[in-house]
Amino acid sequence: MIRVATASHAYNVLFGHSFLREAFESLADITRTADRIFVLTDENVWKAQGDTFTAAFPLPFEVYVLPGGEACKSFDQYNACQTFLLQQRATRKSLIIAFGGGAVGDLSGFVAATFMRGIPFIQVPTTILAHDSAVGGKTAINHPLGKNMIGAFYQPQAVVYDIAFLKTLPEQEIRSGMTEVIKHALISDEAWLNELMSRSIYDYSDDELSHHLQKGTQVKANIVAEDETEQSVRKYLNLGHTYGHAIEAASGYGNLSHGESVMIGLIYCLLLSEQYGGVTREQTMSVYRYAQSQRYPFDAVAKFDFETLLSYMQKDKKAEYGELQFVLLSKIGEPYVQKVDVAQCQEVDVLLRQ
Ligand code: NAD
Ligand code: ZN
Repeated sequence: MIRVATASHAYNVLFGHSFLREAFESLADITRTADRIFVLTDENVWKAQGDTFTAAFPLPFEVYVLPGGEACKSFDQYNACQTFLLQQRATRKSLIIAFGGGAVGDLSGFVAATFMRGIPFIQVPTTILAHDSAVGGKTAINHPLGKNMIGAFYQPQAVVYDIAFLKTLPEQEIRSGMTEVIKHALISDEAWLNELMSRSIYDYSDDELSHHLQKGTQVKANIVAEDETEQSVRKYLNLGHTYGHAIEAASGYGNLSHGESVMIGLIYCLLLSEQYGGVTREQTMSVYRYAQSQRYPFDAVAKFDFETLLSYMQKDKKAEYGELQFVLLSKIGEPYVQKVDVAQCQEVDVLLRQ
């Protein structure tokens, strides 16, 4: 169990395997006060894991099934959830359960944050990436003018991470989620990074996967405890995301997943960190070769020229006054924020393409 203690609220992240019933029985203090329970999920998750969820969940609930993945983070779907809750006569004492990946978690959290000015919710993540998104209280939907632009900081009452739900994840989602685990290792612990890279991401045993997810969650929990609203150290979680977001946006949020794009961004940041003496070429290459062996699509970079990526990087909401700011490493495990000029960004972009 990991305790997340933010300034606004403290809660537990429970880890286990096929332990949904047991986990929710242990959360009776939270569920006891709920007059009704509403499960928000998406169609892929519900198709793959709905029967297992229904068989194991110990309390009566109503379910609302959203379109799969990112499509659920829209105004229309947000509105549809609120309508569903109102028609079902949900009250301020009702409890929402977000059963799905980061998309369902972000949407459900925002629904919970705003329904009747805020009702409690519990995250039940079903992806690897969600070890990151389920903790920390960032909730959001997308706007046509930008991803995650409408949202709130709103912490869950608890997170129940049942590793058994991950069994049906498609390969691309394993890859996508493991990027954030590797990112957490890069900003915190070189020995753990080497441990992660000693095996294929597709071959971890349940115990190994659970161990890595707990370590990743702990890194995230420590950071959000110190800085809930991204005034300082929470920025470190953006390692790889400036360049990664640019690749993701340039690809039109199409074939490349978030984590695949961010893996390219992580290598970009390692190369940039080299320029400031933070990491060695050998360290960069060991992460790069490992990621290549795990089928991360580095060829994708060739599809976009630097100017296109630069324009996306300059639009990134984390760029202050058009300046390019990157999270870099002063060594593996030690992130810091660095302003970088465009010429140097381009130099490293050239290196990445070699
Ligand atoms: P996702 O929720 O879109 O899930 C990926 C795909 O896998 C979807 O098609 C989904 O339906 C399917 N799926 C999920 N679980 C499954 C399972 N167990 N079996 C079979 N299919 C399954 O993607 P994600 O990678 O979990 O999350 C991405 C989202 O998270 C993005 O919207 C991103 O903005 C958000 N995010 C939020 C935070 C945060 O702090 N709130 C952090 C990182 C990312
Ligand atoms: Zn990310």
